[in-house]
Amino acid sequence: MTEPFIYCDGLVKIYRVAEIEVVALQGLNFSVQAGELMGIVGASGSGKSTLMNILGGLDRPTAGSVRVGDHDLLKMSDGMLTRYRREQVGFVWQQSARNLVPYLNAVENVELPMTLAGASGKEKRNRAKELLSMVSLGDRMFHKVGELSGGEQQRVSIAVSLANNPSLLLADEPTGEVDSNTAQVIYDTLRYLNTELHLTMILVSHDPGIARHVDRVVAIRDGMMSSETRRQVRTIQPEDAHLHGDDANGHHEVFEELVVLDRAGRLQVPKEFLEQFQIRGRAILDVTEEGILIRPAPEDRNAPELVTRKQQQEADLRRAKKGGIGGMWQRLRKK
Ligand code: ADP
Ligand code: MG
Repeated sequence: MTEPFIYCDGLVKIYRVAEIEVVALQGLNFSVQAGELMGIVGASGSGKSTLMNILGGLDRPTAGSVRVGDHDLLKMSDGMLTRYRREQVGFVWQQSARNLVPYLNAVENVELPMTLAGASGKEKRNRAKELLSMVSLGDRMFHKVGELSGGEQQRVSIAVSLANNPSLLLADEPTGEVDSNTAQVIYDTLRYLNTELHLTMILVSHDPGIARHVDRVVAIRDGMMSSETRRQVRTIQPEDAHLHGDDANGHHEVFEELVVLDRAGRLQVPKEFLEQFQIRGRAILDVTEEGILIRPAPEDRNAPELVTRKQQQEADLRRAKKGGIGGMWQRLRKK
């Protein structure tokens, strides 16, 4: 394999809220090849946006390393990071209001980032028009944002994100506010641009069905990569075609989900599996001929139930708030 375009190693991001530390990313390892179209899925609060903000130079990690192309995002000054963000990264956010200026028309919106970067004249307008044609909005160029549908607005947002010819496109739940047909159009548009412009793209989604639209999906859970799904096209025997609902050539899409091991040998076992076998606290690993079998340790069946990190954080916050009020009472009593 060639050197990855994006490389994250042991990435940690800790937010401090009041006295509480929120660990949004806990030693995340992740790499993306140049030109890859990849998806990131995960429950709300799992750290997807935190990762995107770091890759896009909007936020800095607390520890670990992160490199995009030749840019070491940990070592850059604030000025360099701002330049990196403007010149190398395109963003598409969930709410088109964050991507677009409402009182401008589509072509003016696409021109805006170019104007900010110092471009002017006919070339700017031509590029804006070209980008809008690429997202199939050639006939809507002079419509104001409010005159466009949600899906069209998102396609203008994609054109805006590409205005300065970035090498990386980050889309954080770009289909979060549209119906599934519109989402399909947006995914098709991104796929087309990925092939056409050889652009590296990361799409965040809460929809596991995204695997159909991208080369590879990684699942993030509690700030770590937990599994990876690859789409593979296999050719199957014509006599089996009726079993799979394949196309006429016998091509059959297979999705293979792999669990990710970190370098310390840790892996995350899906909660459903643990619940199914009542595995809590500790487990027994049996080495078999086929692989490693994880069994519940009988004495740990009554151990405390698993909690998600979100539940744990909420419990911590409640406790901290209680402590705060308790402290206040004590101070009042002393007076
Ligand atoms: P996702 O995008 O997967 O929903 P986020 O990356 O937004 O998740 O959040 C990961 C965790 O970090 C959550 O527990 C969230 O509450 C916390 N978090 C995110 N941004 C901040 C912030 N600016 N300040 C404090 N905590 C934050
Ligand atoms: Mg998010």
